Amino acid sequence: MNPVQEAMAGSRALPTGREKPHLLDDRQPCSADSCEFSALIALGQKLLCLKHFIVRCYEWLDYLEPQIQGRLFVRAGMRRAQAMVEECSNRALLVSLRCEDLTNLDRSRLLHILLLSSDLLFQLRVPRNEFLFRYRAKSVVSKSQSPALAAKSAPHAS
Ligand SMILES: [Zn+2]
Repeated sequence: MNPVQEAMAGSRALPTGREKPHLLDDRQPCSADSCEFSALIALGQKLLCLKHFIVRCYEWLDYLEPQIQGRLFVRAGMRRAQAMVEECSNRALLVSLRCEDLTNLDRSRLLHILLLSSDLLFQLRVPRNEFLFRYRAKSVVSKSQSPALAAKSAPHAS
């Protein structure tokens, strides 16, 4: 079982907006193998440094994206997928707002994670029939457009 599937199957209650994630205080080590840095933030119950937080967000999003787009989850799986995407998004936002020593590359990766997450959350909230209609329309739109713009430019079914 890969780490993302492990997180999907986690028995822990779904993360909710009631949780108050915060940046860690440099006293705990990153949980990634052979990493020497201090943990900055927790994701999926693992304490991670900035680099490994970004890697883990991409692992989660890369795993979840085709399944969300293909609507491959049953209802409980969709809720879990949504919770994981929200956790990535909330933590990435927190790091980008509160961490003072980010490089421009860190900032651009965090922004990319936020954009990917918001696109996936949008897809999760669109009812299945409308999603299929928009998804087909989107595939016709130029690939140079962002997914959000492509979705906006798709005709509305009303
Ligand atoms: Zn690390």
